[in-house]
Amino acid sequence: MTGTTSFQTLAARLDGVALRPGDAGYEDARSGVQRAYLHEPSVAVRAGGAEDVRLAVRYAAEHGHAVAVQATGHGLNAPTEGGVLIDTAPMAGVRVDPASRTAWAAAGTRWEQVIAAAAEHGLAPLSGSSPDVGVVGYTVNGGLGLLSRTFGFAADHVRRVDLVTADGEFRSVTPDDDDGLFWALRGAGGNFGVVTGLEFDLFPVARFYGGGLYFDTELIPAVLETYREWTGTVPDRMSSSIGLIPLPDVPAVPAPLRGRHVAHVRIAYAGTVESGEELVAPLRALGPRLVENVGEMPYTASGTIHNEPKQPRNFYCANAMMSKFDASVPGAVLDLVGPGAEVFAVVQFNHLGAALAQPPAIPNAVDHRDASHVLRVVTLPQGPDRDVAHETAQTVTQAVAPWALGRSPSFLQGERDAGAQAREYYTPATFDRLAALKAVHDPENMFRCNLNVPPAKGEAASPAKGEGVAPGKDEDVSPSRPGKSIVM
Ligand SMILES: Cc1cc2nc3c(=O)[nH]c(=O)nc-3n(C[C@H](O)[C@H](O)[C@H](O)COP(=O)(O)OP(=O)(O)OC[C@H]3O[C@@H](n4cnc5c(N)ncnc54)[C@H](O)[C@@H]3O)c2cc1C
Repeated sequence: MTGTTSFQTLAARLDGVALRPGDAGYEDARSGVQRAYLHEPSVAVRAGGAEDVRLAVRYAAEHGHAVAVQATGHGLNAPTEGGVLIDTAPMAGVRVDPASRTAWAAAGTRWEQVIAAAAEHGLAPLSGSSPDVGVVGYTVNGGLGLLSRTFGFAADHVRRVDLVTADGEFRSVTPDDDDGLFWALRGAGGNFGVVTGLEFDLFPVARFYGGGLYFDTELIPAVLETYREWTGTVPDRMSSSIGLIPLPDVPAVPAPLRGRHVAHVRIAYAGTVESGEELVAPLRALGPRLVENVGEMPYTASGTIHNEPKQPRNFYCANAMMSKFDASVPGAVLDLVGPGAEVFAVVQFNHLGAALAQPPAIPNAVDHRDASHVLRVVTLPQGPDRDVAHETAQTVTQAVAPWALGRSPSFLQGERDAGAQAREYYTPATFDRLAALKAVHDPENMFRCNLNVPPAKGEAASPAKGEGVAPGKDEDVSPSRPGKSIVM
């Protein structure tokens, strides 16, 4: 083929490096946090900057390759076999503009870098439980933050998306663009290009009231039931989750928690310390805490609320957005993966609603805003347990099937084969519009190593220009309304 760029030419043009299987550095480039499976690209590009991303996309297009993107590997769900992997980890950098209360972060930036830079101005981003997660992967899939019930999804507060599209061109997409990309990139972002940088809002939260309460095994049923009822009473400024966690007996776990199956209630409250104390009182009344760190804290300490591990690991995950946290759910879930269960499973319920239920100022592709909670199950496969662990994660979400609205792209983390089930993450109207936009912006489905929405064919492939499909617009016709089970 004349005019086709060779691997050597690509490698020579990059600021970063291009690697093939067997090259020194190849394993590093394809390895992230998720280790249950890895990308297996024929070419891995460690991108030194936006121009490297453009060169890699063009190379992939010329050779008919798929393009996968990885920043940290927290959300790997559709590993590429062959194709080009763009490793954005070297592209880390943040700019904060205190006057407009915005930040711009490059593709490889982790939340901890934004949190630190924003804190210098008394500001905070809508980051989530782990400061180690990548800003872009988190935000383009929705982004459920620690203070999400107060401020909404991270995707609701994006101002500009800089990316390379399937034609190998740079674009800077803002609300003024009327070709649907700004809508689609905020909720289904990985499908439409490789983001090189994002501009988004910051919030005046220097300090807040929050932390975690760990309860011992025998209190788990009472804590879970009280938490379920409590979330029906708290104000919008209170965001929270509960995790049921079998903690290993290893030195990295604090001594009082070591080897115990615990209930961990995590809160983040954007209100006064006094009212926060009143809100937490019913939880404290449940009994002694093995460990508690609830109090006023700087946003820079927000990672201590969940205190999630940083090391690479094998994990599978499944989730279900629930219209209601029914009274039967705690018992059903504990029967499956409560203390003593054979498969190691972490179960988590996040409280949704409040600002998350509001339509964003500029419509985007984040769906299921009517969910009251999301159930997440993370299993850690060990040796021959791999398939059992994967199936268990799916089985637990079936416990909430009667109230399941669908699934959340926000928690794509080890959700193996999620791409094959992309319809479950969006309402039919959103999915159809995404597919129509995909037919225009990525007709060859080059960006398919993700929660993939394939390009629509025929008549379905013509999105109305500038049309914003409001989330929930098709509520009457959705097959994923309450009462319908999600197909696993
Ligand atoms: C410990 C842990 C805690 C988490 N906590 C939260 C939480 O509190 N709230 C929440 O909403 N989510 C949370 N998540 C989920 C997390 O936000 C998603 O898994 C997210 O996709 C991770 O992004 P990443 O860049 O870190 O991961 P990666 O695995 O590097 O990327 C994940 C996917 O994001 C897309 N992507 C990444 N970079 C780009 C880019 N430059 N251009 C286009 N697409 C891109 C790709 O589809 C890629 O496959 C958590 C996950 C873990 C493992």
